[in-house]
Amino acid sequence: MTAPQTRILTGDTPTGNLHIGHWVGSVQRRVELQDKHECFFLIANLHAFTTRADDPAAIRSDCIEIARDSMAMGVDPAKAAIFLQTEVPAILELTYLFAMLLPYNRVMRNPTLKDELKVKDLKDNYSFGFPLYTVGQCADILTFRAHAVPVGEDQVPHLELTREVARRFNKMYCGVPDKAPDEEHESLGGVFPIPVADVGKVGRLIGTDGVNKMSKSLGNAIHITDTPKKVKKKIGRIYTGQDSRDPNDPGEVDPAKNPLFQYLETFVTDESVIDDVRTRYAAGDNIGDGEVKMLVADAINELLDPMRERREQWASDDDVMDVLLEGSRKANALCEETLTMAKDAAKLRFFPRTIELGG
Ligand code: ATP
Ligand code: MG
Repeated sequence: MTAPQTRILTGDTPTGNLHIGHWVGSVQRRVELQDKHECFFLIANLHAFTTRADDPAAIRSDCIEIARDSMAMGVDPAKAAIFLQTEVPAILELTYLFAMLLPYNRVMRNPTLKDELKVKDLKDNYSFGFPLYTVGQCADILTFRAHAVPVGEDQVPHLELTREVARRFNKMYCGVPDKAPDEEHESLGGVFPIPVADVGKVGRLIGTDGVNKMSKSLGNAIHITDTPKKVKKKIGRIYTGQDSRDPNDPGEVDPAKNPLFQYLETFVTDESVIDDVRTRYAAGDNIGDGEVKMLVADAINELLDPMRERREQWASDDDVMDVLLEGSRKANALCEETLTMAKDAAKLRFFPRTIELGG
């Protein structure tokens, strides 16, 4: 649980529209947290260059799309700042500094990084910037001196790296004692709080391929922009050829073998409907996946309907750009302060500076 008065930072890479995995893993939490906490939601446009450096126009238009989708899902720009990574130079400057404090092998050991290289089929052809993005993510979080980070499960290893580099910085440059508990780093003079992951209702929603995490860039996602018909079609195509019942325990449905059950439990709100399906399935009733698929598709469409409506209200790119400008200004106000503190601590600051965005 997130303690009162904590600062929140999280974000998305502009690699496509938001999907229902984002909602359950992180965005739903953002919408809850924005009422009580200072919230910053980042659009990691530089990190999108890890896989899309050849298509900067698509990254740019996805920045607008992600901001629009977030607001459609319920993020309120009057409560939370939505901003662009590349409009906040302090983040990039701290990335460089943190890269000096993390052993190369430690960065490469990150299991999420390894997994991404594998599922995105990058083999040995990934850029130097690909592993560097994990260091950049430490800076995304720490430049905001964030206390909590609402993320899906895949981001937890990144958070661990962030916590390590924050501890190292505070000990090396701020005199925080070696054995100081994480919660005391700030009060002991450390520039950075040691942030915690705040994993959403479902930490890892499976994609419609039934194998990988639902991801924008894997073509296995149900997006907020999908029409009701498309949602039905995508759900209808989910492969459920394997028997969903666990052969070692016929009474139990094994959701790992059938994403439909994860969707059922996640999106169908009526518990008695879920229980009924589970019971009939486990008893070997000829319920058929078709019926479950209908239930799931309807439930997802019910969730998406109000989001689709709100999305219409943000149809103007100019309106979205105004939100991003305002959010980026707010982000800079805080991040320049952090950068000053960090540069003072590391003896890197020589002159004052100010950053002004927009005209
Ligand atoms: P990409 O394919 O470009 O990596 P993505 O779909 O993984 O895109 P990100 O922008 O990397 O989306 O992630 C944004 C946030 O949403 C992160 O906190 C991530 O953990 C969360 N998230 C993404 N996909 C899922 C999922 N399938 N289940 C739960 N949380 C998710
Ligand atoms: Mg991802």
